Amino acid sequence: MVTKKLHNNKDRKSASVWKVDILTIYPDMFPGILEKSLSGRALSDGYWSINATDIRQFALDKHRSVDSQPYGGGPGMIMRADVLARAIDSVHSDSDTRPLVYMTPRGQKLTQKRAHNLANGDGITIICGRFEGIDERIISSRNIEEISIGDYILSGGEPAAQVLLDACVRLLPNVVGKVESLKEESFENDLLEYPHFTKPRNFEGKEVPEVLLSGNHEHIKYWRNQQAENITRERRTDLWERKILTDRCD
Ligand code: SAH
Repeated sequence: MVTKKLHNNKDRKSASVWKVDILTIYPDMFPGILEKSLSGRALSDGYWSINATDIRQFALDKHRSVDSQPYGGGPGMIMRADVLARAIDSVHSDSDTRPLVYMTPRGQKLTQKRAHNLANGDGITIICGRFEGIDERIISSRNIEEISIGDYILSGGEPAAQVLLDACVRLLPNVVGKVESLKEESFENDLLEYPHFTKPRNFEGKEVPEVLLSGNHEHIKYWRNQQAENITRERRTDLWERKILTDRCD
């Protein structure tokens, strides 16, 4: 048995299930945090499925080694291309319509746009690296896309894969009940989100902005948009400049 079937989707037609395969030396880490809350409900309701495959099962020596020393010397160990190739080929064929992704700090930085794009597809196969990373040759030989979750180094690709999956699963059709709440979030339309307020009306002497109590939906919409623009301009000049450019082109 090389794969660990974590959930099956008996309640939904297989055609609409967003199918995830994970390649990892720690299959028990999945679904991990994704089993809780929104993504967990979506998993048990059959909107998506996850299958974690243990890369170690594809090692041929008696110690089940998946890694070896780097050619040319240097610190740490590298995951072997031959072991990875066997693991990949066991779950992901050439004709698979899903992207094959390796989580790595050297990849394209994950964006909301890429998450939408992935969520609109059939699913994903994700390779989680460990040690110093994976042998470079497997990347071109299996046409692997490299994705980073940010400019910092984790000890393994598993938490990065969970971040990527969380971002995608909440965008699958019908997973979030109110589509409007997705549309107004940060990074949609290159804007950060406006500030939120709830009960109590007075918190440690701080009042809720008057306009939000007015009941005037036009004014509220205008105020929120102004706030979103101000916050984006102050905090993220990169987003703001891109927004100005796209608005001009529209
Ligand atoms: N030596 C590598 C880092 C290895 S970290 C380098 O300098 O680029 C070990 C594994 O953790 C990586 O193979 C990758 O799968 C994962 N990882 C670490 N940081 C990550 C990040 N920011 N985004 C995605 N995956 C990451």
